[in-house]
Parts: sequence; C-alpha cells; structure tokens
Amino acid sequence: MNANSPDQHSHHQSPKETPKSSKPWPPSPLCRWSIHVHEVQYEQLDSPEPPENLADPNDETTWTPWPAPAGIHEFAESLQDNLESNEFSTIELRELPISSGQIARAAKRSPEQLLEEAFGFSIMARNQTLVDDMIQTIRKKKDFEFHDLFPMHLAASYLDGSGNCCNIFNGICLALRRVPGFRKLHTNHLGHTVLDNLMIAILKAHTSCTPVMVDEAFRKEHRFAGEEVDICGSWKHMFCHTSAQAIIHCIGTMYVFTFADVNTPSGLFLKRCLNETCGLKLQLKPLHTLVITAVYLAQLGNDGENLFGVVACLLSLLQHGANPLLKAHISLTALLSGDESEECSHSELDPLELARRVPQDLISKWSQERITGWKIFCAVLRLSQDSLNRPVEVYIEDEANSDEEDEEEEEEEDEDKYCSEHSDDEIFCKSRTLSSLWAAVQTELLTYRRIAEGDPWISANFDMESVLESLEAGNDLCIGLVSKNMMKSFCQCGNFEESRDPVCSHTDEACAYYFSNLDDWSRSTFLHMPYRG
Ligand SMILES: [Zn+2]
Ligand SMILES: [Zn+2]
Ligand SMILES: [Zn+2]
Ligand SMILES: [Zn+2]
Ligand SMILES: [Zn+2]
Repeated sequence: MNANSPDQHSHHQSPKETPKSSKPWPPSPLCRWSIHVHEVQYEQLDSPEPPENLADPNDETTWTPWPAPAGIHEFAESLQDNLESNEFSTIELRELPISSGQIARAAKRSPEQLLEEAFGFSIMARNQTLVDDMIQTIRKKKDFEFHDLFPMHLAASYLDGSGNCCNIFNGICLALRRVPGFRKLHTNHLGHTVLDNLMIAILKAHTSCTPVMVDEAFRKEHRFAGEEVDICGSWKHMFCHTSAQAIIHCIGTMYVFTFADVNTPSGLFLKRCLNETCGLKLQLKPLHTLVITAVYLAQLGNDGENLFGVVACLLSLLQHGANPLLKAHISLTALLSGDESEECSHSELDPLELARRVPQDLISKWSQERITGWKIFCAVLRLSQDSLNRPVEVYIEDEANSDEEDEEEEEEEDEDKYCSEHSDDEIFCKSRTLSSLWAAVQTELLTYRRIAEGDPWISANFDMESVLESLEAGNDLCIGLVSKNMMKSFCQCGNFEESRDPVCSHTDEACAYYFSNLDDWSRSTFLHMPYRG
C-alpha cells in the first residue's frame, strides 16, 4: 500500500467512484478545530463519534468506527501464526492449487508485510491508539524494514487537522527519525518528499486541482489518495486556519525533530525539456513548489480564498531554513500552460523570479483579496532574500557606533532574549518585520476561527491590506495584533519567549491577554501536546 501510488485506486477502491462535486455528507461550511493543551491543564476530551450509517467506501462519514481500538498487530500476528502452522484451514497443503513452496514463501513474507499493511491502515483510520500500538510493535522487531509503505507520506495524505492535528504525524516522524533508512523514507517511490505530500494535502482539500496537474504520473487518477478525509471536518472551502495550523505544525515537526533537509528538491510539477538535444530535468526546489501551490490556490481555490494559509506555510518554511535564493531550471510555459514546444523554454530562476513571471493577465482575473495575498507572498519572499543577503556584522557595527545606545543595546541583547532554537544567521533574526509577521501569523492561528457563516476568514486584528502596506513601505507592522500589544514578547526569530515547544505554541504563551474566539467546545477537540521524545 503506497500513499499516492499511481495505481492504488484502480486496485483498492470500489469501481463506482464518487465524482468530486457530489460528495454525499451533510453540507457544513464551518470547520472544526483542535487545540493542543498541556495535560496538567485539561483532561483530554473525546469528540463525538460519527453517526453509524450504511458504509460507503467513498464516504468516510458512513464508516463504522473501528471496533477494538487496540491490538491490530495481534490480528497480523495470529494470521501469520496460522499461515505458518497451517491451523488456518483443514485442507491438506497438497490439495491446494499452489505449491507448498509458494505457501512457505507467502508465510515467510507475510509477517512484515502484514504488519506493514496494518500500520498503513491504522494511519488511514487516523486512530492515535492504533498508530501508537503499531509503532511499539514495529520498534520491537529487529531490523524491520518498510517495503511498500511510506508512513510519513501516508500520514500527510490523511492529515486530520480538526481531529488530531499533527499528533499522528509527529508520532510517526519521531519513531522513524533514527531508523537507518530514514532518508529513503523521506522521498517516496514517486520522488515526492513528505513536504510534497503536505502540498498535495492543501491542493486536494482547498482547490479544484486534479491529480494530473500536480504530477503527470497521476495521469490516470481521478482522485487524490486520502481525498475522502476532510482536513478540517467540513466541506471543501478556502485554505482555512484549522488546515493551515495542521500543515505548519507538520512542517515544524519535520524540520525541527527529524534530520530531513528542508531544501530537498521537490518531485511535484516535474517537467522535462522536450528539446531532444537538451532533455534537461526541470525539477523545482521546495519554495518554487510553494509558489506554484499559491498560484493554484489563487487560480482554482474555493470561495473566500485569500492566500493567508500559503503565506503562513512560506513563513514556516523560511523559519526552518528553506533557502529563498536557491535557483531551479524552470519553464514557466510548460508549468502553467502545459506547453509542448520542442525548443528550450527554461531558465534558472529563484522563487521570487518565478513568482514575478506569473503572467499579469492571469493575476488580474483573481479577486482583490487573492491579489493582496499574492502580493504579501511575494513581499515576504523579497524580504527574506534581502535578509539573507545582509551580513550579520551590521548589528555589531551599529553597537560600536554610539556610546549612549551601547548600554541599551547590550541590555536588549540579554541572553534570555533568545530562544533555545536560536541562530543568528537565520532569515528572521535579521528582519524584525518578518519575525513579527511570523509571530502574528501564529497568534492569529491560535486565536481566530470563522464562527458563523458570513464571518470573515481572518480576524480584524490581522488585516491583510494593512500587512501589505507595511511590507511594501518597509515599515513595522501596524495590524491590531502588533499595534494594540496583543502578543507576548517573542524572540528575534519569531518564537514566543514563553513557548515550551518550538513548533506548537499555546494561546497563553502567545497572547498578552485572552481574546481567542475558539471557545465553542462543540467544535473543538482538545489534544495533548505532540510528544517530542
Ligand atoms: Zn476549514
Ligand atoms: Zn498540531
Ligand atoms: Zn532544454
Ligand atoms: Zn530565537
Ligand atoms: Zn505549551
């Protein structure tokens, strides 16, 4: 079982596929959300069980909840025991129409195979108890190797932001990060990185993109893997805060707690130059892939899309070391129009150069909100490049300049001004604008959801027009979150000083006082903090 295997659906799904537009579950335009809490503060609450109806394999809301949420590995083991001892059946081996050699081989192969399959199913069922149980079992097996399963990719495809946010993904990353084959598990059989699968998760949940637009290997696919899972417990809508929170928690988990390289080339939107004498592989870097994802959100996004979520992803990737100066060989015509010209149409572009080449007549058809979001996205890319090009020494020279300011600055650069993850050559540390924008984005995700239909998707304290004005003028942000001092102090790199986890901050660690509107408990799931080992 592979996440996104090109032939997965034809083998494993019921022949009558539900067309994208006619999903049968009760329409709700409102999302649910999850909140990470410390266990000392709250007891974990269970969210209501989904109603039990007739099961339709294409519609997850009709599935019966897993009956015994423990010990699926026992099933795998007993199946294996039965195969080995032949207790499974009363039929003599020689009466079977296959050779006993084949059976022996099947029995030999099955323990790992079955365990692997069971692990895959537990991830797809998004059942934390089962996943943890499987991880424990796999850890006890000596030299266990995955053959067909890419657990992190599968967890990204079945991400459930309103149900368990990043917790299952985190558990899998932490269990696998020290296995010798980790690098192999980070890029799957299709050449997709785990980050690529997170990008697919965004596109499949929040745009009308079809699989082939993302990768030509999906030519025969009508649906994405995991398309039946709703990332925020509602029907398709814009890239909302619940979804964005889950995605950026996973990005943080990936690059803070595993050894995955954030600049690993992407396997999405891959092209090859059709000029026979050239034939260059046109492979994007992660930030280029994010640019194309942003274009698809703007072009094929759902009602209310404003690109806030993709700006949040950009900031998250930049904070975790994605390099905005890296170039890639790109043919924009091949990317955007599927141009099949047989002459070289590619050049080496960094992500901002790619963004600037998106045709104006495409952009001009987007809604005003999307154009504002797009301009913020481009401004963040520009500021991040400027910051990276700026030498660190600038600050040291400043200090030497004036005696008066010397003392003040020394005080400001007090040791505990810096978080434990801090490193001075990072993009945000050299750009107060970007670090406060990142702090504000995190606070917005912690404190605001669309409560009723017709409510705005972004809070009044995070006015996108105002953000754009500040970024373009090179001024400090003057959105409510900043100008009304609604946030607690944060490090130069954008992490909150009181935050006890470098990826998932708490409302009380970010907010100067309580102003969250997430207190509709019927729509909340309280989760423990991701366990970091
Ligand atoms: Zn949502
Ligand atoms: Zn999370
Ligand atoms: Zn070429
Ligand atoms: Zn810091
Ligand atoms: Zn905390």
